[in-house]
Amino acid sequence: MSPRELVPREGEIAVIGLARSGRAVAMLLRKHGYNVYASDVASSPETGRVAEELRALGATVDVGRHHMERIGRAALVVTSPGVLPSARPLEFARENGVPIASEVEVALNFLAGPRIIAITGTNGKTTTTALIAHILRGLDIEAVEAGNIGTPLSEIAAREQQPKWISLEMSSFQLHDTPSLKPAVGVLTNLSPDHLDRYSSVDEYYADKARIFANADAESVWVVNRDDKGATRMVRDVAGHTYSFSVSKKAEASLDARTGQLVVLGTPLLARPDLPLLGQHNVGNALAASLAVMVADRSYQTQKARKGIAQALKTFRSLPHRLELVGEFGGVQWINDSKATNVSSTAVAIDGMERPTVLLLGGRHKGETYTSLADAVRRKVKKVIAYGEAATIIATDLRPVVDVVRLGDDFDEVMQAARAAASAGEAVLLSPACSSYDMFSNYEERGERFRALAAKEV
Ligand code: ADP
Repeated sequence: MSPRELVPREGEIAVIGLARSGRAVAMLLRKHGYNVYASDVASSPETGRVAEELRALGATVDVGRHHMERIGRAALVVTSPGVLPSARPLEFARENGVPIASEVEVALNFLAGPRIIAITGTNGKTTTTALIAHILRGLDIEAVEAGNIGTPLSEIAAREQQPKWISLEMSSFQLHDTPSLKPAVGVLTNLSPDHLDRYSSVDEYYADKARIFANADAESVWVVNRDDKGATRMVRDVAGHTYSFSVSKKAEASLDARTGQLVVLGTPLLARPDLPLLGQHNVGNALAASLAVMVADRSYQTQKARKGIAQALKTFRSLPHRLELVGEFGGVQWINDSKATNVSSTAVAIDGMERPTVLLLGGRHKGETYTSLADAVRRKVKKVIAYGEAATIIATDLRPVVDVVRLGDDFDEVMQAARAAASAGEAVLLSPACSSYDMFSNYEERGERFRALAAKEV
């Protein structure tokens, strides 16, 4: 297999960051005999272990520093989603005219066989990506999920056995540096402000999302959310065929309000109660995923395939940290939605609540205001517990509509306050609308602490 021209044979390839994507791409490049220099400023037992592993494969590795001069001389710099565009090695590469590519871009250059369904959008990417792979496997087709969902694409590209399909979650950061992406089907779930800590404007963020359409041609197939004006507008002049899904309007995949059926390409597929996921947004995710699979290949539209798709939807379980019911203790439901790291995902979570709710909001502020939650909060929330770095802004934005308790960065104290505030028949919802980085290493750690503390001292 010969990679396309983007990955140069001459010179050295500098991989920035030794987390999961950096490790995987360095291994892939070594497997194909490239000269690799990999580095990470973080010096931890984990980066040390990865460094040893890569050195054993013949890479040169630095932990605790980046050898800038070497990066400035590299033929290509490979970046990972966790590395900020303003990080010194990337700035230095740009100053020296060294091309920068994402880990996904490099992996694409080594993948010939599998077809790709790419998924992007502000919210629902991971759920939709997982649903698509689950549905394809339900049809007995070899399919894997990869990209931002967890398994780096380079890890798939390095395998001897390639799947038939890859369901590939793409974040805006990954899209920024992946110019070759040309999916068989591209899915845009929705668009709303996010990552304003990393982008200088919403338009700049949306421009990265629009890169999923960069290589569109007459053969392209797109699946887009009709309920989202921004997404519909973005795809309007894009080449190819666009299919749409909607939970409220007519579309190629829609929810029939009268019969309660999910209807795809003109025929009922599944009754809403048979989809074991909370919230209307998940109906949208299921419609998007079913439609994406059915338009990927005509043979996935037969009567038999439809049965397989319906069965797969019935057996899909919600992913951890996404409106996950941890349990009911003392009559109070504890719900972990730690993955809600922006205001729009918290809004759908609140909308989906069926009991009076104590809402835990807070963490590292990402630049959006919380006032857009006011309507949903007024309807469903009895008390907000605001904590972490964003607490003051949250309190200012929401005090006009709800009782807000402002706390600091002690999560035990946050949970004690939640316990004291919630009575039997009510719910406690962790749907923070902020990133976790002021108090935790990531949203998973935040959700796990919530789970552990919720189950304690009942
Ligand atoms: P992403 O990968 O885009 O962050 P996830 O599937 O991991 O999306 O879900 C992240 C959060 O967004 C969860 O808290 C979930 O409840 C919410 N969410 C999921 N799907 C949607 C959707 N279609 N629209 C709005 N919010 C959603």
